[in-house]
Amino acid sequence: MAEVTVVGGGLAGSEAAYQLAERGHDVTIREMRPVRGTPAHQTNDLAEIVCSNTFKSEDPSNAHGLLKLEMEALGMGGSLLLATARASRIPGGTALTVDRREFSARMTAAIEAHPRIRVERGEVTELPEGPAIIATGPLTSDALSAAIRRALGDEGLAFFDAIAPVVSSESLDMETLFAASRWGKGEGDDYLNAPMTREQYDTFVEALRTGEGYEGHDWENVPYFEGCLPVEVMATRGPETLRFGPMKPVGLPVPQWGGKRAWAVVQLRREDRAGQMWNLVGFQTRLKIPEQKRIFRTVPGLENAEFLRWGSIHRNTYLNFPARLTAHGSLPGRPELLFAGQITGVEGYTESTAVGILAAANLDRIVRGLEPVVPPATTMLGGLMRYLRESEPRHFQPMNSNFGLVDPLEVHVKKKEEKRERLVERARADFAAWIRENELAPEPAAV
Ligand SMILES: Cc1cc2nc3c(=O)[nH]c(=O)nc-3n(C[C@H](O)[C@H](O)[C@H](O)COP(=O)(O)OP(=O)(O)OC[C@H]3O[C@@H](n4cnc5c(N)ncnc54)[C@H](O)[C@@H]3O)c2cc1C
Repeated sequence: MAEVTVVGGGLAGSEAAYQLAERGHDVTIREMRPVRGTPAHQTNDLAEIVCSNTFKSEDPSNAHGLLKLEMEALGMGGSLLLATARASRIPGGTALTVDRREFSARMTAAIEAHPRIRVERGEVTELPEGPAIIATGPLTSDALSAAIRRALGDEGLAFFDAIAPVVSSESLDMETLFAASRWGKGEGDDYLNAPMTREQYDTFVEALRTGEGYEGHDWENVPYFEGCLPVEVMATRGPETLRFGPMKPVGLPVPQWGGKRAWAVVQLRREDRAGQMWNLVGFQTRLKIPEQKRIFRTVPGLENAEFLRWGSIHRNTYLNFPARLTAHGSLPGRPELLFAGQITGVEGYTESTAVGILAAANLDRIVRGLEPVVPPATTMLGGLMRYLRESEPRHFQPMNSNFGLVDPLEVHVKKKEEKRERLVERARADFAAWIRENELAPEPAAV
């Protein structure tokens, strides 16, 4: 068994350390708090949750619920985070909602009591030698960010995300939308377009201008780059700004209008090869979620849109995974130096932790001389890992778990509930088979 380092004792790092220790390794967690703080953390506890106190749904027919089942199957004796969350549970319907102080205190106690884990406090400023997992999260300290940048290049690390909403293809009205790339360049089905009349455009711009936005913490309010302004800010710059920006209609004749030009066009860019997820191009936003739903659903063809990801703009340190990391999330020349958690480009408490469990399982394999593995893309964790690996590097943005990430069913199923059921059934079977094949857990997993 090996001596391994986990940098960052947040959600992903604490879980990864526990998983490695349960697999028999001696683990040192290096956590910078309280020697150096972050702008969001308020305690010295490990696995502090910095904002909402929910780990979302436990219902397996929900993407977050399915991911939890997979985490428990892959983890040694399940997931420490999920077990601790359940022990700290407060009422929250089907959502796993916790008393935040109790949760982090219990996580800290479990880690500190583990005979094979040592916690060292202090900032890490260089990438460590030897087998390690870096899980320093969205608020990775400046010195370590600089070291990562030196290893990955300037384009390898982003410091904020400007996320545009993503909608599911099955919720779109394809009679109203049309597939076309501007001026016919590129593949014809890379983009879907929503044409607007002048009247629709004016109403839309007014709704954006007056929509209610999210007031972040001061430190969270990133300076906007001109090329990446929130769509509602562009709307306030003048009635024509969007029409000459992301909503420009030129080079996109509307087939349904006999080839005439629209007054404005909302473009949706394909997010995945199967065309299940579509990104509203240039619609990064700080509007509140109910406002996004209300306003973006007025776009022609999006009246019933299902949002797989909401728009946002945050401070967020994350890697350009598809351009710079290997399939299992390591530096190319150092398979034993893995990244995990939000820094890999997943979004959310549960997603970050799930990637931590996978990184631990893979680091264990690597130090035992085995090849790393990732789950098939029919599973939620496999779908997330594929998203990280195969996204277009120039447009790479963090992603939360959702059913648009997993391979579509081979047969067409019309009813949404039935389709979900079948996707979940397939994911559970494939995840269990993958664990068995690779002997990742001691007993056959019941996913
Ligand atoms: C303000 C904010 C609010 C968020 N709200 C939510 C939410 O409500 N729901 C949700 O699902 N997700 C939320 N997220 C996104 C994300 O899921 C969480 O940030 C999550 O905690 C990520 O887990 P992690 O383990 O990757 O990082 P973290 O939990 O942040 O853990 C990283 C750890 O690394 C430590 N560290 C950083 N740099 C160093 C260094 N150089 N040396 C040693 N230690 C270091 C930090 O102190 C921290 O303890 C939020 C993110 C932010 C920034």
